[in-house]
Amino acid sequence: MKSIRDHYFSNTTVLVRVDMNVPLDKQGNITSESRILAAVPTLNFLLSQKAKLVLITHLGRPKDHEAIFQTEKLALRVGQILGPEVIVKSTQDIVGPSVKKQLQEIPYGGILMLENIRFHPGEVKGDIELARALSELGDTYVNDAFSCCHRDHASVTGIPDFLPSYAGFQLEKEIAELTHLNTDPQSPFVLLQGGAKVSSKLGLLKALLGKLDKLIIGGGMAFTFLKAMGYSVGQSLVEEDKIDVAEGILQLAKKTNTKVVLPTDFVVTDDAHQPTYTATVPLGEIPNDLMGVDIGPKTVQLFVEELSPAATILFNGPMGIFEVPAFNKGTKELYALAGTLKNAYKVAAGGDTAAAIETFGYVNYFTYISMGGGATLAYIEGKQLPGILTLMD
Ligand code: ADP
Ligand code: MG
Repeated sequence: MKSIRDHYFSNTTVLVRVDMNVPLDKQGNITSESRILAAVPTLNFLLSQKAKLVLITHLGRPKDHEAIFQTEKLALRVGQILGPEVIVKSTQDIVGPSVKKQLQEIPYGGILMLENIRFHPGEVKGDIELARALSELGDTYVNDAFSCCHRDHASVTGIPDFLPSYAGFQLEKEIAELTHLNTDPQSPFVLLQGGAKVSSKLGLLKALLGKLDKLIIGGGMAFTFLKAMGYSVGQSLVEEDKIDVAEGILQLAKKTNTKVVLPTDFVVTDDAHQPTYTATVPLGEIPNDLMGVDIGPKTVQLFVEELSPAATILFNGPMGIFEVPAFNKGTKELYALAGTLKNAYKVAAGGDTAAAIETFGYVNYFTYISMGGGATLAYIEGKQLPGILTLMD
């Protein structure tokens, strides 16, 4: 894979695929800019060589050209972050003469951010004509959007067919950290697995079971495992059609000598979002009409004890419905533990996991927080990501 370090970009135009798909509130305000900040080292490197940059990103899941998903506000923020000496403009089109004209007006050392690439129907179809039209805007292509690399999209896998292509710093960093986790995890290696559904983590669990010393399961998905073990879980989230799969994972864990740790108590409620009643109950005593929404204090203590000796920890998926402050305690306390385990290699993965860590203000507690979401899980599962394959020589 060629790195941006391997080329001199002076006085050329570089297409840079970034992932500035930041979370937005209902008014369209950016609620976390970590994805913007993650791209800055690559942008500064290219700008310092006096390259002209064409930034390509998607934002949200637009159905039509909703104003809330326009990239103009991203361009404004990028300009503020990079400082007054860098000119940053945005377009209303993605390709075509108006974009070409605007690009001519940008000086070397400046940036033109294209409108949301997913406003163009060709993007997610991997349309080769869109890729060709984009490639005509620049001399080279840089991919710094690791989180998009599992997608065969025009701006990810299409453009490299037409232009010399390089990996940006953020993409390289993701690969380096996840490769380390995949190939060289120091033992004891523990996975703290939470999140909503077993089905979305199956690949991850199967891929890691042979490498893990311990699998700790919390969050909504714990209930499918507990049900498989014969416990009644009330109204808690259960994937009925995954109970046998959960059973299979428990058997595989036995075969691979992986210790499995499950919750022993829960915070339960009548309604996750408008609770009128909450209580803490032990495993096996969840009332029929209530649901588990967080791990309980005894479980927190148990999980802390089980995590503390780890040399390598992968955090994936929250321990409860952390979006509701009343039910974020389990997640918060276990992520806080990361701050005290100074010698462990601590990687966090998953969109909600990263959001929880950021909300708690615990970013510095982790060795690395992957921005990848689905791409990260696929990479850890050992899948080849098409966006990375196209960067190979
Ligand atoms: P990530 O994005 O980090 O991979 P997931 O998307 O798998 O994580 O899971 C996050 C979601 O799981 C959150 O929206 C959270 O509310 C939900 N969740 C966690 N615990 C429970 C639970 N006990 N019941 C229902 N949902 C839960
Ligand atoms: Mg998620």
